[in-house]
Amino acid sequence: MKLTKSTKVVIIGGGFGGLAAAALLSSCGLSVHLLERNASLGGRARVWSKDGFRFDMGPSWYLMPDVFEHFFHLCGEDVDDILPTKRLSPSYRVYLAGNDTPVDMYSDTVRDGATLDQICPGSSQSLASYIRTSKSHYDRSLRSFIARNADTFFHYMTLATMRDGWGLPVLVSMEKHLSKWFKNDTVRRFLAYQTLFLGNAPKETPGVFSAMNYVDFAMGVHYPEGGIGAIVNAMEKLITNAGGEISTTADVVSINVDGRTARSVTLADGRTIDADVLVANADIHHVETRLLPTRSQSLAPPYWSNKRPAPSAAILYLGITGDAPKLKHHTLLFPDDWDLSFSELFNGHSLPTDPSIYISCPSMSDESVAPAGHTNLFILMPCPTGLEWTTDLKNQCSERLFSILEASFGIENVRDRVVVQRFYCGEDFTNDYCAWLGNALGGQAHTLTQSSFMRPPARSRKVKNLYYVGAGTNPGIGMPMCLLSAEMLVKRLFRTGGPGLLNQLPRL
Ligand SMILES: Cc1cc2nc3c(=O)[nH]c(=O)nc-3n(C[C@H](O)[C@H](O)[C@H](O)COP(=O)(O)OP(=O)(O)OC[C@H]3O[C@@H](n4cnc5c(N)ncnc54)[C@H](O)[C@@H]3O)c2cc1C
Repeated sequence: MKLTKSTKVVIIGGGFGGLAAAALLSSCGLSVHLLERNASLGGRARVWSKDGFRFDMGPSWYLMPDVFEHFFHLCGEDVDDILPTKRLSPSYRVYLAGNDTPVDMYSDTVRDGATLDQICPGSSQSLASYIRTSKSHYDRSLRSFIARNADTFFHYMTLATMRDGWGLPVLVSMEKHLSKWFKNDTVRRFLAYQTLFLGNAPKETPGVFSAMNYVDFAMGVHYPEGGIGAIVNAMEKLITNAGGEISTTADVVSINVDGRTARSVTLADGRTIDADVLVANADIHHVETRLLPTRSQSLAPPYWSNKRPAPSAAILYLGITGDAPKLKHHTLLFPDDWDLSFSELFNGHSLPTDPSIYISCPSMSDESVAPAGHTNLFILMPCPTGLEWTTDLKNQCSERLFSILEASFGIENVRDRVVVQRFYCGEDFTNDYCAWLGNALGGQAHTLTQSSFMRPPARSRKVKNLYYVGAGTNPGIGMPMCLLSAEMLVKRLFRTGGPGLLNQLPRL
């Protein structure tokens, strides 16, 4: 299709993927209309505010600042102007189960190496060379694999790509890859926990995702002024400034297909909106199995039966009086039985007995998220998908999270100090975002067979003007990846560029 300024692009979903696509495509000069079913934008990265507390409901780790900088640059903005960030120090704190002494990590290989030496002497030397190798994995992956539209293995068959791919640990697991460098179990956990960000276990995540270790240990963990919600607001502004239209409480209930072309979408209120190009940011499972007519589904229900979703999560958002001195902005609790914890998460059918725990406490760095003298935090426990969240289970889980706050993080009398509280679980992910089996991260876990060209494709095979963006397709899970998925859509629509990032946007 020849794109012109009057080509109507309709985007289903205002999560990170949809917002990024709308910002880029409207900046290119296309006529963009974004439809979001919820009353506010951001999807899993929405904001919830109550009684002076402001919670980023989902993502809290601003990683890969290079990708954000590049995205805003493409839209003609300097990220430092539009979204000033600070680098957190420490980046995060870790508690090891049964041990009250915290371990602080600074995204500084020298300082963190010295910390890991205290756990196992000699770790610092391995860390330095390991992170150098991870940097090479990061650079090569970004250049040849991540920022590329590859629908089949054969798209990688170029000399430059094969050179970049040579020696990348694709066929070994993160766990095996790490064990070549680090002999100590505990030390390895500091480099393996990041696979949870990819919705997977270290045993089943390809070793090439060691690129994440470079991101964590060298690039640092940042915090945008105003929190993650500020990124959503910045993207909204980009869209409207470029002439794009945004409708919230616009719940798409069907995609209307004529032959092999999507012509329009129908909303729950009965309105029909015409489209020349349709971009879906909602979970691909929902789009393929609920919004498309059966004959137009290229990923029909049987496809999903043997796919592994990223895990779900139970989250307790709390505004409390006083402080929580044992926490940092990001605090993790590593489980005692590492293998059991992952096996319960991916194979279990009930609340995990020995879970990993994450606490986000942005009031440590940002006084605007809580009234003076108060703490804003959420505690998150990864959970298996598909649980039946009865009232009993919700109460049981929420009580457990309160107990963990007291026992493992020293937040005394936390129940009595609550000012605002909200419990959120798999059922909410499904009801709010139409999430497949209540998964928290936006799609399939990053196993070997669910990554790269084996992930759901970014284009429907049966409807020629239907494209996908967001965590469900390539490159995958996480805010930076969603931004890149939108850039890959631009490359696809404008038939521009092979591997690598765009230098500038094509403009009509
Ligand atoms: C608790 C939590 C912590 C996380 N932590 C991090 C982190 O620290 N760093 C990081 O980078 N990532 C993190 N992630 C992952 C990251 O948030 C997601 O990968 C990313 O936000 C997914 O964005 P998306 O655009 O693919 O999907 P979504 O955010 O789900 O957006 C899809 C949108 O489509 C809308 N929609 C669905 N169906 C319809 C319909 N029929 N009509 C109209 N609209 C529809 C939904 O309401 C939603 O707004 C976290 C996620 C969670 C939940």
